[in-house]
Amino acid sequence: MSLSPEQIQEIEEQRAQSAQTRRVVSEGMEKHLYTAHEVLDHGFVRVIDYMGDDAAICQAARVSYGKGTKSVQNDEGLIRYLMRHWHSTPFEMCEIKLHVKLPVFVARQWIRHRTANVNEYSARYSILDREFYIPAPEHVAAQSVVNNQGRGAALQGEEAARVLEILKADSNRAYDHYEEMISDDGQDGLARELARMNLPANIYTQWYWKVDLHNLFHFLRLRADHHAQYEIRVYADAICKVVADWVPAAYGAFEDYRLGGANLSGRAMDCVRRMLKGEEVTQENSGMSKGEWREFEAELKG
Ligand SMILES: Cc1cc2nc3c(=O)[nH]c(=O)nc-3n(C[C@H](O)[C@H](O)[C@H](O)COP(=O)(O)OP(=O)(O)OC[C@H]3O[C@@H](n4cnc5c(N)ncnc54)[C@H](O)[C@@H]3O)c2cc1C
Repeated sequence: MSLSPEQIQEIEEQRAQSAQTRRVVSEGMEKHLYTAHEVLDHGFVRVIDYMGDDAAICQAARVSYGKGTKSVQNDEGLIRYLMRHWHSTPFEMCEIKLHVKLPVFVARQWIRHRTANVNEYSARYSILDREFYIPAPEHVAAQSVVNNQGRGAALQGEEAARVLEILKADSNRAYDHYEEMISDDGQDGLARELARMNLPANIYTQWYWKVDLHNLFHFLRLRADHHAQYEIRVYADAICKVVADWVPAAYGAFEDYRLGGANLSGRAMDCVRRMLKGEEVTQENSGMSKGEWREFEAELKG
């Protein structure tokens, strides 16, 4: 993988340390601390720090509800209630800091999530490694014919091999030129901040990413979804596993209401009510467009 010998040593040193604390500790999260979870061919996600647990969400919620909410005294029930009713601020009381290594084209999608704090590896200051994302053959797929923003069936045989060959050759050639330009063999090399400009978007970058649980759930809702591009979805999936161990009740509610739930329009709800009454509802008499109807049917079929 992806980790340099220095990073492996740093992780081992960090994992060898432990400190007594009066702060909240999530046992499920402690096992993840510093450990790198591999993603794609050279990437990873690892937890650097965190704050809070399921109880911290309830503690914050009870500040607003006080003693008057006997019916939601049970922590899991309270968390489900908060999630169901979009009472989101208690989830902001938990935070997570991740170290992520990811291809630049994935980083461009990720950085659109503005409600996080980011510090990225500087390619002005440091030299980038010769590490490029090259998809596994089963992920070398054709343009989708039904979704302009997606991929269809995997390319086969020679066609797939040729694509992989192009990706590898172009990546290496660009990196050879990068090295040549920054080389100070006998004279001043080109500035790193300029030499990087012809490197392709499949080169890896790294950042620290800190976000609260409410905004993390928003990110995961969008990026662990099947509409998200595979290459960012696998990062979201890896983070989902960590969050499930960190705040099991909150993650359970998120999985149920957000990942597993559906957001139906007024027209769609009207169709559901008509179907329950036994009426035959079709796209033509639904009031929905063909695209809306297709998505509605997909939601109902699961
Ligand atoms: C499948 C998919 C396809 C996409 N395709 C494209 C595309 O083709 N082109 C493209 O440019 N983007 C695309 N995006 C990115 C998308 O439009 C959002 O920018 C991205 O998902 C971040 O969402 P967000 O703004 O809700 O998140 P965050 O930036 O984390 O914001 C969270 C919430 O905070 C609030 N907020 C934050 N900042 C502001 C602000 N300045 N003003 C008002 N409210 C704010 C909003 O309520 C927002 O929902 C795509 C995203 C997905 C998931």
